[in-house]
Amino acid sequence: MVSKKKIVLHFPPRLVDQPIVYKLVKDFDLQFNILKASITPEEEGLMVLELSGKKENYDSGVQYLESCGIKIQPLSRDVVRNEEKCTHCGACVPVCPTGALFVEEGSRKIIFKNDKCIACELCVKVCPPRAMEVHF
Ligand code: SF4
Ligand code: SF4
Repeated sequence: MVSKKKIVLHFPPRLVDQPIVYKLVKDFDLQFNILKASITPEEEGLMVLELSGKKENYDSGVQYLESCGIKIQPLSRDVVRNEEKCTHCGACVPVCPTGALFVEEGSRKIIFKNDKCIACELCVKVCPPRAMEVHF
């Protein structure tokens, strides 16, 4: 049986420059596709991967990642912004770990780039008018 899933990996700072994903290919015979990757201001690494392979290899690979101290979260949600509700207050910008929310120079509007979003939901909690929505 083949497993194919999208997952978010949170790397602690000490692991950011280790070839961990490469080991998934070499030692566990898994295929991966990096959908997004970034390093946050605290130097935590974040990576969204589509990982596939035989179920037993997939499970061992995920166990290996967890044993290294990497937190794994399934990517089953998508965060979107309700443009009608957003007041461009800026409260979400400092909490976003990937820079998916940022201030546009000139207009001072808050831009949301969905392709950089890892659905961590940190912005959802701080948005006063609840403009950031989680879609399942
Ligand atoms: S916190 Fe909410 S209302 Fe404020 S800029 Fe961000 S998305 Fe818009
Ligand atoms: S859920 Fe919000 S805080 Fe998290 S990455 Fe996406 S836009 Fe940034």
